[in-house]
Amino acid sequence: MKLYNLKNHTEQVNFETAIKLGLGEKQGLFFPVKLPTIKPQELSKMLKMDFITRSTEILSKFISHEISKEKLYEYVKKAFSFQYPLKVDIKKDISCFELFHGPTLAFKDFGARFMAQMIQSFKKNNELFTILTATSGDTGAAVAHAFYGMKNVRVIILYPKGKISDLQEKLFCTLGGNIKTISINGSFDDCQKLVKEAFDDKKLKESIGLNSANSINISRLLAQICYYFEAFSLISKKQQKKLVISVPCGNFGNLTAGLLAKSLGLPIKSFIACTNSNDTVPRFLKSGKWKPKKTISTISNAMDISQPNNWTRIEELFHRKSWNLKELRFGSVSDDTTIETLQELFKLGYESEPHAAIAYRLLKDQLKPGEFGLFLGTAHPAKFKNTVEKILKNNILLPKSLKNRINSPLLSHNINPNFSKLKKFLIEE
Ligand SMILES: *Cc1c(COP(=O)(O)O)cnc(C)c1O
Repeated sequence: MKLYNLKNHTEQVNFETAIKLGLGEKQGLFFPVKLPTIKPQELSKMLKMDFITRSTEILSKFISHEISKEKLYEYVKKAFSFQYPLKVDIKKDISCFELFHGPTLAFKDFGARFMAQMIQSFKKNNELFTILTATSGDTGAAVAHAFYGMKNVRVIILYPKGKISDLQEKLFCTLGGNIKTISINGSFDDCQKLVKEAFDDKKLKESIGLNSANSINISRLLAQICYYFEAFSLISKKQQKKLVISVPCGNFGNLTAGLLAKSLGLPIKSFIACTNSNDTVPRFLKSGKWKPKKTISTISNAMDISQPNNWTRIEELFHRKSWNLKELRFGSVSDDTTIETLQELFKLGYESEPHAAIAYRLLKDQLKPGEFGLFLGTAHPAKFKNTVEKILKNNILLPKSLKNRINSPLLSHNINPNFSKLKKFLIEE
C-alpha cells in the first residue's frame, strides 16, 4: 500500500515505512493513495466469516502487497487473541457495542496490538527498537501490554506523576521486563515535549532505533476498521438497513476507522461524532470555522483534546469519496448531562462510564424513527471506578486483569521534565 503525506502529497511511502515513521515531513499524516472497495456479493460472504478470517480479508485489501494473506492471518490472530467485542441490548432500537474486553480494558488494545505485530514482522533480525511514547492513561497501558516480552523491543512510557488514575498506573507500571515506565514531575504536555525532543535528536534516534506508537500511526487505524464489520455482522438484516453508529471522539481515530469501513463498502447509514465540552469539531461542523479553545478537564478525560490530529484524515476521506460533511451528525455533551445520562443508563440496567454515556446520549437524542443505533463502549467502567461509583452510588467489581495487578509493586522511575535526564536514561537503561 502506498500512502501520501497530507501536508506534502509528493512524499509517498509504503506501509512499512509509514508504520516506522509514524508521521511524515512537517508532522504530516499518511493517507492511502488507493481506497479499496468490497462488492456487495463479497461483503455478504465476508459477514459470515469468523472475526479473524474476516479481519484478515479486510486488512489484506490494504496491505497484501507487503504481507501475504497467510502471514497476515497469523499476525491478526495473535493481535486479536482476546474476547471479541460484544453487543449488549439497551433498548429496542439501541445497543452498546463493547470494545473493552481486551487485556487493558479499552478499545485501544485492537490498534496497539496489531501495530506491535506489524513492527515485529518488519523488524530485521537484530534490529533494536525503542518505542517511546507519552500517555495520559489508556494508550500507555495498551502499548505496554502489546509489546510486552517482545525480543529486541524496548518500550519507554512517560506519564505525568499523579495525573492518571491509580488503577491506570497499576495496569502498565507493574509489568517490568522490556517495559520501562517513567513518571514525570510535570504535566502531560511536559511528557509530550520530552518525546519530541528525543525525536529531534537525530543521533540519539538512530543509535537506539527510536519509534513512536501514538494514535496517528496508520496501522492502528486499519486494525480498528475490523470491528465495525463485526458490529454489522451481529445485527439483524432489518437493523443493517438503517444503522447509525455513535462514536465518542478524542483524537478522532476511532471515527476515522469507522468512515474507512464505510468507504470500503460497509453500508452504515450514518455516524454521530460525539465530543465532551472540548467541542472544536461540532463547532466547526456548525459554523465552518476551525477555532480550537484551551483544553478543558472533564470526567471523560480520554476525550479531552481540542486539536484532534485525525480530523484532517476525515476531511480528506470525505473529499476523496465526494461525500458531504453535512451528512455527518454531531454533538457535544457537558459533564452534568454525562452524569445524568450515566444514571439513566443505570436505571435501564446498564453500568456504563463517561465516554460511552456521551455517545449514548447523542444517539438517543438524534435517532430517527425506523433507525437502529449502536454506540461504542470504548472503556470498561472499572477503569473509571472512583468517578462511576460516586455517580451511581454502586460498587464496581474489578475485572481479573485489574485485580491481578492491584497488589503488584509499581516499578516506575521518576524524573524531572529535563531532556538530559531522559537522554541519560534512554542510553543507559
Ligand atoms: C482514546 C479514547 C477515546 C477517544 O478515541 P479517539 O480514537 O482518540 O477519538 C474515547 N474513549 C476512550 C475510553 C478512550 O480511551
